[in-house]
Amino acid sequence: GEHFAVLNIDLDMFKAVNDNLGHDAGDEVLRVIGARLLRLARRSDTYGRMGGDEFAVLLSSTQNVSGAVTVSGRIAEVVAEPIRIGTEIVNVGASIGIASYPEHGRSATELMRHADKAMYEAKRSAKSFSVFHGADDAQLHESARLSSEIAALAEPRNLLIHYQPKYELSSLRLAGVEALARWRHPILGIVPPNKFINIVERSKFVEQFTWAVLGEVMRQAVEWREAGLVFPVAVNISSRALYDDHFVDKLLEQLHAHALSPDTLILEVTETASFNQYDKPASVLGACVDAGLGIAIDDFGTGYTSFRYLREFPATELKIDRLFIASMAVSERDRSIVSSMISLAQGIGAATVAEGIESRATLDALIELGCEFGQGFYLSTPLPVERLNVTGAGETSPQATAASAR
Ligand code: C2E
Ligand code: CA
Ligand code: CA
Repeated sequence: GEHFAVLNIDLDMFKAVNDNLGHDAGDEVLRVIGARLLRLARRSDTYGRMGGDEFAVLLSSTQNVSGAVTVSGRIAEVVAEPIRIGTEIVNVGASIGIASYPEHGRSATELMRHADKAMYEAKRSAKSFSVFHGADDAQLHESARLSSEIAALAEPRNLLIHYQPKYELSSLRLAGVEALARWRHPILGIVPPNKFINIVERSKFVEQFTWAVLGEVMRQAVEWREAGLVFPVAVNISSRALYDDHFVDKLLEQLHAHALSPDTLILEVTETASFNQYDKPASVLGACVDAGLGIAIDDFGTGYTSFRYLREFPATELKIDRLFIASMAVSERDRSIVSSMISLAQGIGAATVAEGIESRATLDALIELGCEFGQGFYLSTPLPVERLNVTGAGETSPQATAASAR
């Protein structure tokens, strides 16, 4: 007759600790985390290690899921605190799945299985925790299907690229485009990237996918150039591609083969946790900038340790995440944050690009703050190449003109 919840905790980045610092360090990390978890435990709760880097918690008498969510948040916090091992500082994280009795299952095995499913959901969406929701079997099905067919993405013919125009905000002149990948699927139709990017980034096909996108973009850039249209194309690059020693050489070689100058491409990279631990991406990006490629830090403001990143990573552009842009017309706080991001960018000599401009009010606010560039549904959605109006790059888009006349 009592309510309770089961949490399934899996550590993130634990394998990297074992691989880089050895198993003794891994053991020490598990001991430290075990001790931290026990400090959180109430008398009536049961904490256990299930094996490897998996822990589980039985929270007794939680009246509703929100109690379990609160505890999960605290667990994620204590796990994420840095751990000192000898002279090294180690950062791990937690992915937590929550299943609660009786809503999410009536037997121990069912609850454990559902907590496990929720944990994978948390990992997949890079959230620290996720509550089991059973209603989306179809979605799970689709995601399982896409996972099993992910090899198809290594083939350029299954790839479709839409381009979203980027404008200079003060004049609403076209300043470039961003290439956004879609999966041309024989049965599911055009699959958006949020359904497959995570899968491909975890697969061994990530490199082939990255090169398939880059190849198609370069082919398109040549076509535009032959039509007399020259503007930079931004391409999203998986951070994993930056661990390849030959990435820059390969890219420069291909640009050369297409007779494209390096400044045709802007590589958009997002800050990720793993960047903190290795200096390879920094040196790869450094080599890119030296070669004349543009580097944009994507989703700026929502990633990890932004300032350290800015210190170590060369960037020619900061793309302010749409989280801050969406509400800046109504939120004084968001406006101040955006404003300081713009001065920060100016201070390090990077251009600012606002993403997710959805209204005239937002556009006006950005112009007032001195943001140079932007993109968003208000200006133009991403479009297939045949619907893209890039004739006379540098001219005002018809849509933007209509918008500004309103
Ligand atoms: P992103 O790099 O942040 O790309 C911008 C996303 O925001 C696009 O979604 C775009 O359609 C959407 N967007 C643009 N303007 C607005 C707006 O005004 N409001 C709202 N709500 N959304 C707007 P899309 O095309 O679904 O791409 C999603 C993400 O998938 C991208 O986010 C990027 O992280 C990833 N992605 C797309 N193509 C590639 C690729 O070729 N390689 C890699 N590694 N990732 C890619
Ligand atoms: Ca992007
Ligand atoms: Ca972005």
